[in-house]
Amino acid sequence: MDNKRGKGLSFAKRIYAPRTIGLGIGSFSVMAALYPLNVPLWIWGLLLFNGFIWPHLAFVLSTRSAYPFQAERRNMLLDSVWGGFWAASMQFNPLPTVTILSMMMMNNVAAGGQKMLIRGALAQFTGAVLSWLLLGIAFNPDTTALQIYACLPMLTLYPFAVGMVSYRLAIKLAEHKRALSTLSRTDSLTGLLNHGSWKDLLQLCFQQSQDSHMPATLALIDIDHFKQINDTYGHIVGDSVLRRLSHELKENLRTEDLAGRYGGDEFCVILPNRSLAQAREIMERLRQVFGNYQHADDPELRVCVSLSIGLAACRPEYQNASSWLNEADKALYIAKNTGRNKVSIGAADTLSEAALSNSPE
Ligand code: GH3
Ligand code: MG
Repeated sequence: MDNKRGKGLSFAKRIYAPRTIGLGIGSFSVMAALYPLNVPLWIWGLLLFNGFIWPHLAFVLSTRSAYPFQAERRNMLLDSVWGGFWAASMQFNPLPTVTILSMMMMNNVAAGGQKMLIRGALAQFTGAVLSWLLLGIAFNPDTTALQIYACLPMLTLYPFAVGMVSYRLAIKLAEHKRALSTLSRTDSLTGLLNHGSWKDLLQLCFQQSQDSHMPATLALIDIDHFKQINDTYGHIVGDSVLRRLSHELKENLRTEDLAGRYGGDEFCVILPNRSLAQAREIMERLRQVFGNYQHADDPELRVCVSLSIGLAACRPEYQNASSWLNEADKALYIAKNTGRNKVSIGAADTLSEAALSNSPE
């Protein structure tokens, strides 16, 4: 309900400036057309009310309404009733009539598409009938030079005002789209990449590394005995440990490194252009920094948090990114099964490291 009201309020605010400008300058074109017709004085009073008071009254009515969106739509239909009324009152003088009615049609289509266009046209017809009932039916096919000039501000300024409103709306929509796209790629707890978007980037990095023959290393990081942390200190503390790890990742990695939350207490990092040895150094540092973790409200926690990390270099023999990820998974498994709180590598990388160290200089 609040969200709906908020949307209605911003709709009313968006319409306010163009309505004030449109009805203000539009009333000059009506004045120029009414002047030679000797209409009763109250018609002039009504025109001044419609041109200069109604836009503000309409804004107050819609913003104070419990349903601002509906109230604003009703105001727009009333605008059309006014428009039809003035068109008939100035005896359908061609240029001011077309100017006023077409600008209103533009408004109605922009606000509510075809449905609003039809309802607006009916409202305009109702306004015309009201005028015929009060002033009688008459047609005047001639537009004087003065009347042409009086229409010019409306023909230029009003489309400009509507264009500005549409432009601002388009900018806002683009911003919302960007924010939504970021949200859809982000893990809400840690602010890191979420599983899906990280996996997409893994695919990309794998391909780049294979094509360019540049090194790249993958790290899978898992918090040791995290379940115990949750069980001992509660999930709120558990969450803050996860956030802290993501913070340390951001602090200890370069901007081109891609850190994500794989799921639960498992994190994943792609380190492009980093050899296994360089990645190991970085991850060792992270493990040690994180080992000093101290929760603000609970210094006891310091001793409980450690990391197991599995590393895998991107190797030419891998057919796809899954093989690479599998190797990092195996390395993490080794770290978990050989005492935890360490950085490990898998069999493929161990073999190639051994081969390197045995090869003659
Ligand atoms: P190991 O040393 O083998 O990794 O053991 P572990 O306890 O860390 O691993 P396990 O997979 O048994 O437990 C992971 C726990 O992480 C279980 C789950 O309740 C918890 N968890 C998953 N997501 C969240 C989260 O968003 N917040 C918190 N606080 N806990 C989470
Ligand atoms: Mg764990």
